[in-house]
Amino acid sequence: MTILNVDNITMQFGGIKAVSDLKMEINEREIVGLIGPNGAGKTTAFNMITGVYKPTLGNVYFNDKNITGIKPHEITKLGIARTFQNIRLFKELSVLDNVLIANHLRLKSGIVASIVKTPNYKKEERHIYEKSLQLLEDVGLLDLINERADNLPYGKQRRLEIARALATEPKLLLLDEPAAGMNPQESLELMEFIREIRDKYEIAILMIEHHMQVIMGVCEKIYVLDYGITIAEGSPENIQNNPKVIEAYLGVD
Ligand code: ATP
Repeated sequence: MTILNVDNITMQFGGIKAVSDLKMEINEREIVGLIGPNGAGKTTAFNMITGVYKPTLGNVYFNDKNITGIKPHEITKLGIARTFQNIRLFKELSVLDNVLIANHLRLKSGIVASIVKTPNYKKEERHIYEKSLQLLEDVGLLDLINERADNLPYGKQRRLEIARALATEPKLLLLDEPAAGMNPQESLELMEFIREIRDKYEIAILMIEHHMQVIMGVCEKIYVLDYGITIAEGSPENIQNNPKVIEAYLGVD
């Protein structure tokens, strides 16, 4: 079952075509990579899928619904969450508060119920608290819930960002360079972690990553961009042996 269908999207900034005619299909529970040199258009593609930019041309379908031009928070509500290349956390808040806040999108109680603290609101608050603890356990941060977010090492901040994204209950999760700043051991653990969250939360994952061991080790399908153009698409084996990809990005080594 296709969950995301990117239908020939193009993004033009003045004279620059950051992305040209990108086509992508992502199935439920599939792990897909998006790679390419710096400036190839990867983040721009993420921004079009998540509603930050409206494509100049083309459409994006999520679960067969045309989501082109819809606002980012509406897209998150429909079930697409993302993390960012530059980590975006509430740095001065605790690890737990960071995840609690991320649940607000799914809150059913209104402002009045939250002020009066109706029984339903209290029940919902309890549920969100337990859900947040479970998420933090799943990302391996349960022993750090009271720590300030900016006290965490880089790799753990990235895991916290993923917990915040999962709190919005996505069906598709976009990860922008999740291994950036991680040491080799953390990168290896990340591969296992990505598979675990896919299985547990039954989500599809689309990830931008420069760390080739992570991409080749975890992705089932890979798209390669160069100057905004899709130069290859296929399995990790196909991509690794594709002369165009080797020339543009991987190099002969
Ligand atoms: P990196 O790996 O360095 O993050 P990337 O593949 O994500 O690169 P993008 O950030 O999508 O690449 O940029 C693609 C091209 O579009 C670049 O030439 C960039 O300068 C240009 N670009 C991106 N955003 C804008 C913008 N808002 N206005 C003008 N040009 C932009």
